[in-house]
Amino acid sequence: MCGIYGYVGDQQAVDFLIDGLRRLEYRGYDSAGVAIMRPNRSINVVKRGEHKSSIKLLSKILTNSENPGSLGIGHTRWATHGGISEVNAHPHTDPENNVAIVHNGIVENYLEIRSDLKSKGFNFVSETDSELIACLIAHEIKQGKNLFESVMNLKNCIRGNSSVIAVSVNNPKEIIGIRLGNAGGIVIGLENNSGYVSSDVSALLPNTNKITYVENGELVRLSSSSYSIYDFSGKKINRDLQKVEIDDYDIDKGNFKHHMIKEIYEQPHAIQSSFSGRVNFHSRVVDFEELTESTINIKNFNRIVLTGMGTSLNAAIYGAQIFEKMLGVQSSAENSSELRYRDPVFDEKTLLIAITQSGETADTLSAIGHFKKKSCSVISVIETLGTQASRISDCTISIRAGKEVGVAATKTLTSTMSTLFQLALYFASTHNKSSSEFLHNALNDISLLPSVISKILDSEGHIKRLAENISHSSNLLYLGRGINIATALEGALKMKEVAYIHAEGYAAGEMKHGVNALLGSDMPTVMIVPDDHLYEKNLGTINEVKARGSRTLIITDSEAEEIKELADDIIVVPRINNELSPIIFMIPLQLLAYHTACQLGLDPDRPRNLAKTVTVE
Ligand code: GLU
Repeated sequence: MCGIYGYVGDQQAVDFLIDGLRRLEYRGYDSAGVAIMRPNRSINVVKRGEHKSSIKLLSKILTNSENPGSLGIGHTRWATHGGISEVNAHPHTDPENNVAIVHNGIVENYLEIRSDLKSKGFNFVSETDSELIACLIAHEIKQGKNLFESVMNLKNCIRGNSSVIAVSVNNPKEIIGIRLGNAGGIVIGLENNSGYVSSDVSALLPNTNKITYVENGELVRLSSSSYSIYDFSGKKINRDLQKVEIDDYDIDKGNFKHHMIKEIYEQPHAIQSSFSGRVNFHSRVVDFEELTESTINIKNFNRIVLTGMGTSLNAAIYGAQIFEKMLGVQSSAENSSELRYRDPVFDEKTLLIAITQSGETADTLSAIGHFKKKSCSVISVIETLGTQASRISDCTISIRAGKEVGVAATKTLTSTMSTLFQLALYFASTHNKSSSEFLHNALNDISLLPSVISKILDSEGHIKRLAENISHSSNLLYLGRGINIATALEGALKMKEVAYIHAEGYAAGEMKHGVNALLGSDMPTVMIVPDDHLYEKNLGTINEVKARGSRTLIITDSEAEEIKELADDIIVVPRINNELSPIIFMIPLQLLAYHTACQLGLDPDRPRNLAKTVTVE
């Protein structure tokens, strides 16, 4: 998690650092700080530990005139070791203030290092694992090494996944960075006598689009006019800057109150982008040029595993159902954090589809690595091309949703689902598994998605009123069946994430096997009821739930009177192809969670304890 940013150049560093941190804030907002090298070669550290507002506070107090210096590093934190406070905020320095670092990741052997450094005379001011890194570097410098050699030495000392950038008063014109594992990316750029380094390319874009990445097992030396990348044996790696064609994203909210609602409203456009140029409605062909150009032999697999975490795992559960149904190939969804430590029976005929909107999710990256060792083919489905997942996968497919800033995933989820559906159609046609009638109907319904979503957005007022009732609940059950189990799981996840209401998603058939014991007037249920072959089963569940005193909010695409009579509250959405219905049902569930959070006075863009990009396990 966390965002790291650095500037070295011929201008004052402050404004670059603040803008960089604002753009990285979605990665963590527990606290923030900067370290600037003063012209007299001393380090000026300014930090704030106010959850959610530290960057704003920093921007108010940091002025160029009072904080001069043209080299600096900054950090926006997602705490792993030590509480949310100013003292635990980064940058961290050694006791003599000769070295400053910012850190993304976890030092797994920090207790061991702490006691070792203590025995060497170091005292610590924070509870973090990161402070130890500054001390380790300072200790090496005292032994006569330079900054680069001292940072390189971290590879011998710290365990776990970490990315670090460091500066030292002995070396006031250079930033040194190191990547140990998959804690988070380091990307650098150069332009007009200025060097930039960041966790994420989006923070560099206002100043340069000429960038390159530092990979796991590498170090970087960055000055205002040059950079060099090295492997851990000290060998220089030639890697040119590449021009990236990514639009600088708008971090403003426009006329919307929050990014989350803005992004919910962006879904018609995002979904449209997910199929533009891929689906030819006239010739009825779905084509992924990424796959045509890749080396993956798509005919040569007999099993598909989809993996992800959080919302991406829910997308994987949806994907597994449609792949199995449309292709007749055994398909399953796996939680990446479990998969990475299992020894599954997969071989070169297993295709892994890894879903990570950021392309940086630590667990998913490890799961990809695990599969690659077993010679499986890997397709990653991500938002931002060029991120780590795409660099280690055989093929990358972009969901084309556009940058998502709100921490709770909305448009990236529905665009991922739309992309998976198209991918299933593509595989089905290359495997001769789809009839032309099925293809015709499916493509027709894909083309309807943007307008159907817009129509649901028109009913926001009704959903907002329902959210008022929901906001009085302490617990909620979300129930779905078949293709809509993932919908129920995601509806509950969204509610937990942004409204902090305890909500659980279940397969409706599971109720009698334990969950029914929870039913009663204090346990409202939200049920997803498509007008499909399981419709009557769902009516049965609604009756059973009502008989036990729980209120029911039904989300359905059925126009039948009976369901309107049964429901305490109802949201009716337009009917569409059953395999696409989860995308449609997702929209009212997102609006419900959003408005419940607002009703409760919470900030849905920055839920407590969460961060957008989870780069630690
Ligand atoms: N482990 C460090 C801390 O708790 C860094 C966490 C992060 O990646 O933000 O401060």
